[in-house]
Amino acid sequence: MNDKPTIAVIGAGLGGAAVGALLQQAGYPTKVFEQAPTFSRLGAGIHLGPNVMKVMRRIGIEDRLNAMGSHPDFWFSRDGMTGDYQSRIPLGEFARREYGAAYITVHRGDLHALMVDTLDPAQLYFDKRLVDVDDNGDKVVLRFADGTSDEADLVIGADGVNSRIREKLLGPEAPTYSGWVAHRAIISADKLAAYDLDFEACVKWWSEDRHMMVYFVTGDEKEYYYVTGVPEPEWNHGTSFIDSSREEMREAFKGYHPVVQALIDCTEKVTKWPLLERNPLPLWHENRLVLLGDACHPMKPHMAQGAAMAIEDAAMLVRCLEEVGSDRYQQAFELYKANRFERASRVQKVSHDNTWLRHDEDPSWVFGYDVFEEPLKQPQTT
Ligand code: FAD
Repeated sequence: MNDKPTIAVIGAGLGGAAVGALLQQAGYPTKVFEQAPTFSRLGAGIHLGPNVMKVMRRIGIEDRLNAMGSHPDFWFSRDGMTGDYQSRIPLGEFARREYGAAYITVHRGDLHALMVDTLDPAQLYFDKRLVDVDDNGDKVVLRFADGTSDEADLVIGADGVNSRIREKLLGPEAPTYSGWVAHRAIISADKLAAYDLDFEACVKWWSEDRHMMVYFVTGDEKEYYYVTGVPEPEWNHGTSFIDSSREEMREAFKGYHPVVQALIDCTEKVTKWPLLERNPLPLWHENRLVLLGDACHPMKPHMAQGAAMAIEDAAMLVRCLEEVGSDRYQQAFELYKANRFERASRVQKVSHDNTWLRHDEDPSWVFGYDVFEEPLKQPQTT
């Protein structure tokens, strides 16, 4: 008989899908509850560094991701106006050799679909928006917006920046609007063929207060993607995105290099997202509830490591449950926080400052990390 605790994961985003898959693999009876009725392929890309690809290896989808993604040989940083190179960070073969896995860029929707497919479909529940959670000491009772309820021994809040589980632990508090937005657009590479310009596989164009990050999101290089960081003092559209326009992009990137102008000219649809943050949380878990990913450390996306931190959290949480024994889940949660807090908070800070790889630097503390091999730090006793 399985004596492992039953676990409910709230949210099937990238962090929730990762923790659900790893728990199910380890034999935990795990249900995943997602508020969305279904997922769509939203126009966005994502970087997956070697630190994340090692978790994908464990989940069993590394090869498929390697086949699906673009494999840049370098991360280039360039001056937005002159095009001068500010950094050339070796990836490609160098990353595989030095950091133990590939560095790829993919379509976020393709990645998400692949990850959700690794979950037991019989234990994945869509259209289940958690509205209340009651940890009564012996069990946790979950209540959903559709009037149904369920219960579990342990509950993982992987429910993103507006987490209900975070609110339960720490009280209601909206995330902070950072004062920056991100524009996102996918461009068909066919359109770029008309230009006598070099569209590099992974390049960030910088100026004083803004940037545009650009990369392919498919291995066949048919879809090119940009995501920006642009100051916008006020945001009055809640936490979701709105439509932007080519004209707005032209205004925001006036004077930028011809490659950037070409990308804007080729833009058909562009969306604009508020960038939200929180300061590091004092509490990551209490009794039978524990947080991961954006639920506990949302950040500006300027290091391209937000989902990476959620996925690393997922792997560390499962590792700690296995290490300590899930009957001692409170110690396991304490060990998990002790081994994630410092790294996630450091990544939050560097993302906030937007300095990552702007100039040549050694990225091995991020890319070389292996969540399964990292020696475990014991929690400090007070
Ligand atoms: P989410 O992905 O937000 O998932 C939370 C899930 O919970 C959602 O599916 C939501 O519907 C569900 N949910 C919420 N509330 C409830 C509820 N009450 N009941 C049930 N379900 C609920 N990261 C990278 O690593 N690399 C990048 O290149 C990168 N680029 C980015 C670009 C932009 C513009 C932005 C905004 C972010 C970027 N990130 C990137 C960051 C990354 O998107 C997030 O850090 C990551 O999605 C966090 O994963 P998560 O699973 O914690 O939360």
